[in-house]
Amino acid sequence: MGVPKRRSSKTRGRQRRAANVNLEAPNLVECPQCHVLIVSHRVCPECGYYKNKEVVAKK
Ligand SMILES: [Zn+2]
Repeated sequence: MGVPKRRSSKTRGRQRRAANVNLEAPNLVECPQCHVLIVSHRVCPECGYYKNKEVVAKK
C-alpha cells in the first residue's frame, strides 16, 4: 500500500481544498417573460417560467 513520504502542511491541504471552489460567476441571461437577469438553465425566480411556459405557480 502506498504510504505518504511527507506529511502535507496546513497550507498545502488548504490550497488543495481551495482549488475546488467555484471561481466563475454564474452565466446570467435575460428572462424572455419578465426581462430580468436570471441564471441560465434555471426556472425564473420572478415569474416561474421556463422554456416559455409556466412551470412553477406564482402568486
Ligand atoms: Zn421571468
